[in-house]
Amino acid sequence: MNSQTFNPPQRVLMGPGPSDVHPRVLAALSRPTVGHLDPAFSGMMDEVKGMLRQVFRTSNPLTFPISGPGMTGMESCFVNLVEPGDKVIVCRNGVFGDRMQDIARRYGGEVTVIDDAWGRPVDAQKLEDALKAQPDTKVVAFVQAETSTGVQSDAATLCRLARDQGALTIVDTVTSLGGIPVEVDAWGADAVYSGTQKCLSCPPGLSPVTFSPRAAEAVKARKTPVLSWFLDLGLVMGYWEGSGGKRAYHHTAPVNALYGLHEGLRMILEEGLEASWARHATMHESLKNGLEGLGLSFLVEEPYRLPQLNAVNVPEGVDEAAVRSHALHTYGLELGAGLGALAGKVWRIGLMGQSATPRNIALCLAALKQGL
Ligand code: PLP
Repeated sequence: MNSQTFNPPQRVLMGPGPSDVHPRVLAALSRPTVGHLDPAFSGMMDEVKGMLRQVFRTSNPLTFPISGPGMTGMESCFVNLVEPGDKVIVCRNGVFGDRMQDIARRYGGEVTVIDDAWGRPVDAQKLEDALKAQPDTKVVAFVQAETSTGVQSDAATLCRLARDQGALTIVDTVTSLGGIPVEVDAWGADAVYSGTQKCLSCPPGLSPVTFSPRAAEAVKARKTPVLSWFLDLGLVMGYWEGSGGKRAYHHTAPVNALYGLHEGLRMILEEGLEASWARHATMHESLKNGLEGLGLSFLVEEPYRLPQLNAVNVPEGVDEAAVRSHALHTYGLELGAGLGALAGKVWRIGLMGQSATPRNIALCLAALKQGL
């Protein structure tokens, strides 16, 4: 084999994730690897858990990053909370809601899907009706920020409806965490997962999760074993919950990736969570004005738009892939394509974390103008 050192090109990442990673985080990733049970590392793990509680706005003790991408967070919530025969309602308005219902079925859930059109938020009335029709529902699952469409659903209301009927909630905050308010305790949400590569601006590959005491009780009360060894909360917590010398080996944690997350969380908390939300909103306004100036329109109606994920309709007669390719090859700028049913119909422009800057917006608008 005649391979050479891989030197990735310099890109500006304005797709659906990953987002730009700050040099501080890149520097943290390159620090010396220590053992995953090293007492020095243990203190850092506690800080990661504490900072994750701050960004999730929760006091849940069971808050930690799963060693795996956002999909492992999704799997973990379902595999721990759903037993064969359990009734599950999944609200589906895009690609990730669709994955949720697929996973819930694989673990034996009796799944009812509530559909809303792609680009529309989850309809709370439909959930209320479904819960009334099926009062013994154990779990309600939905995506707060659908990355496939750029729509935001009302997590507070959906969690309240579920809670009123005694159901647990699984909430996907992969694209929302750090970019718009995620209020785990105020919502009364039970199992919430995210990813590191969106508004937290860390590399992909870790999935922060948080489980409420109610969710933890439900896992303890299971009649059947959790169908995944790796994701079984009872086992993995032996590593994440012990402190100092009491941590037990479960798997070899991605030590350097966790250094990166630690630094990324420090950065967002230094900026301030509310300040980060405000920056995402302001940058979205600025991008929106520029896009409208180019005669472009959004897929999603204004009140439901995610600031960090802008699904923009491709005008009639325009070759959407050619415009993205021009941006990539001329400016080193990555823009996202449409996913699933929206492939070829929209561009997805991410303004996530470190990517949400005036400079990137100017570059993106220039590239689109020229490409069009
Ligand atoms: N959920 C949502 C809303 C996402 O946007 C993504 C990734 O884009 C995922 C889940 C899965 O995350 P990952 O690709 O890190 O596994």
